[in-house]
Amino acid sequence: MAKNIVSPKKKPRRIVGVAGLPQLTYRGGPLIRNVEVTTIYWGSAWQNDPIRAQLDAFFDFIVTSSLIDQLAEYDVPGFAIGHGKHVASLIVAQDPPATVDDTAVVAFIQQQIASGAVPAQDANSLYFVFTPSGVTVTLQGSASCQQFCGYHDSHDESLLYAVVPYGDCPGCEFAGTVFDSMTVIASHELCEAITDPIPGSGWYDDVNGEIGDICEGSNKVINTVAVRAAASTTFKATVSATVVMDGSAPVNLTVTLTPSGCTPPPPPPPASPGQSYTVQTEWSNAKGACV
Ligand SMILES: [Zn+2]
Repeated sequence: MAKNIVSPKKKPRRIVGVAGLPQLTYRGGPLIRNVEVTTIYWGSAWQNDPIRAQLDAFFDFIVTSSLIDQLAEYDVPGFAIGHGKHVASLIVAQDPPATVDDTAVVAFIQQQIASGAVPAQDANSLYFVFTPSGVTVTLQGSASCQQFCGYHDSHDESLLYAVVPYGDCPGCEFAGTVFDSMTVIASHELCEAITDPIPGSGWYDDVNGEIGDICEGSNKVINTVAVRAAASTTFKATVSATVVMDGSAPVNLTVTLTPSGCTPPPPPPPASPGQSYTVQTEWSNAKGACV
């Protein structure tokens, strides 16, 4: 499809190409080299929704994760895909209308850029817009939760953006929780925006679509543990707490960290659970599989 949509229903079976497997081919357009993600939460409901902070933490991690590393097979001259940054996060408390069209989403992003509320646009900029529960996003006559669960696009082949409606509707439940469903959709759109920012002009398969479309319905869990283990050091922790009981003042905690001392090098740190995120797998030409 021209607009890269996560469809709300699992496809019965992937259509395979003549050679038996999907094959993304490069169409000569730009890729995003080092993505700079700005997350924009549209509506007052986001102010007290814990999923907002969870999504921000997800983006902090995902842009430097193995999910980006695995895209390196799609490097082309002038566009080497590397790690990115989650550069900004914004809540716009004014509520969107109950039904908001893609054209209004574009105008909304442009307004945030023009006012300086979000970073100015450059070739790496990717603006992710999240709408609150109950809001329907429409796109060329299609509606969120009916025909799609998310999409990415470019406006005037310049403004690169993705839209992820709230992931709590039947048909957009790609994982066990609303948050996990939203990270599945967001990872799908992120990888597509990087490898095909102007839809159809980057890496594309005429039969199967973009890198994420081919693997829709196939998820995996990635974990922050490798990052944390590399940075870990052993400390003794002393905690002294002052708990104010009147219910209106914060709980004060003082944590003192003391290095464990001049002992022989410690054994490798024990396995830490880290933070796990559910993402969608992406098509690998090199492996001929969703990875
Ligand atoms: Zn897609």
